[in-house]
Amino acid sequence: MIFPFRRDVAFAGDEVRFSCMSEINDLYQEVILEHNKNPRNFREIEGADKMADGKNPLCGDALRVYVEMDGDTVKDVSFKGSGCAISKASASMMTQAVKGKSRDDAEIIFDEFHRMVLGELDEESEENHLGKLKIFAGVREFPARVKCASLSWHTLNAALHGEDIVSTE
Ligand code: ZN
Repeated sequence: MIFPFRRDVAFAGDEVRFSCMSEINDLYQEVILEHNKNPRNFREIEGADKMADGKNPLCGDALRVYVEMDGDTVKDVSFKGSGCAISKASASMMTQAVKGKSRDDAEIIFDEFHRMVLGELDEESEENHLGKLKIFAGVREFPARVKCASLSWHTLNAALHGEDIVSTE
């Protein structure tokens, strides 16, 4: 699925093109902007079974991911923190993608997402479970943004493995 990029804004002038905003306009479709504005599962889970902090010093993104398990199922997952729009929208969509999934399925989606943003998985031709998450494929064009998009996933993975802190550095 290809979303129209906002070239009209991105290429309005050099000062815009070389600013952070151009990446945002290139990368962000309406879905991502909307998730940034109204992030899903943006809350703490009291008495969470698992929790991890993720930091991306390069951009300043800092998230905490909360997980509540029911046996082997991710019963509830949420996040709090602050960061750029990509990191926040990605975290929002991560919680939607893994909620209700088994731990194994959540790890499969994490692996697919990670490989997609690194350009190691062709989301259109190779079988995957990414669904709506495919809209983040565009970040592979912006190496610095790969860390923003994958931060919440690394943090989820750390939480599921009982690690407390993860850093992209
Ligand atoms: Zn970021």
